Amino acid sequence: MLGDVGLRRIIGHILLVLACSCKGGSRGGTTPVIEDRSGPLSAESLMADVEFFCSEMFKGRGSYQAGSKLASNHISEEFERLGYKVLRQPIRGRHAENIIAIKRGGDQAVVVSAHHDHLGVRSGQLYPGADDNASGLAVLLGIARSRAARSYGHTVIFISFGAEEDGLVGSGVYVHDPLWPLAKTRAVINFDMVGRNFFEAGADQAEAAAVVGLEFDETLGPVAEKAASEVGLHLIRVPARLLELFTLHDRTDDWWFRRQGIGAIHFSTGLHNDYHQGTDTTEKIRPGQLARVAHTAAALLDALANSRRKGDPFKH
Ligand SMILES: [Zn+2]
Repeated sequence: MLGDVGLRRIIGHILLVLACSCKGGSRGGTTPVIEDRSGPLSAESLMADVEFFCSEMFKGRGSYQAGSKLASNHISEEFERLGYKVLRQPIRGRHAENIIAIKRGGDQAVVVSAHHDHLGVRSGQLYPGADDNASGLAVLLGIARSRAARSYGHTVIFISFGAEEDGLVGSGVYVHDPLWPLAKTRAVINFDMVGRNFFEAGADQAEAAAVVGLEFDETLGPVAEKAASEVGLHLIRVPARLLELFTLHDRTDDWWFRRQGIGAIHFSTGLHNDYHQGTDTTEKIRPGQLARVAHTAAALLDALANSRRKGDPFKH
């Protein structure tokens, strides 16, 4: 995610206002426990990936450093292990690439994405990037694992972007040379920083996450709210227009797709004091948040990848 401290305050206040205005929306009485205790969408499994990609050998996954390449090697191997067809899209001038995994269905496609790079080692300081964005990467891989054996009416494409921290470079490279025609790309679901309390706000907002852009398809709101209430996630729905209004747009990979007229959904638990600091470390990640966001987003993927629009060519 691209941003600065002042911006954080603005974003925080806006979303907190939104949070308060829709308090109690999707949040049932007591917080339901997350059933999936051992599966790919479990807090334990997702947290294992966060710890793995924050381990010493990746050295903060800097896009000009070997750690980024090592990360994309592991991501590519994991997608192959799961049976996806994998392509690696180089990003010129860097040790970085986009890793693209395809599950063929009909000729319309739904993209699920998260960047894997972070700041690496700078002036001797290691930037582990646990929340930014090992958390989003973990949710991406968790959903890819949980849906590996499933077939959909549409094609599903999982993409782990490189060089996001350099200015959304990887997603820009993809959109300018897409693997799948953008005209046949129905939607994108993106994750960036999904592992913390919502904007580190008070305890009563602990299990909340912001979701930007659901408004492009009115059928998605109820799907997201239902899935979120199943796991006790308080969804704060942010219209993309609102971020544009506050010049908070074009800070995450989903915006490249939104600019192409493609429906784009973005999940985040927001900024915090460890943002782009060496202190963005694994012990501050809340595994339950990873699982809540993953469960909610997986339900959106299922709905989008099987939804039919009038005149849709649909593989059955
Ligand atoms: Zn990020």
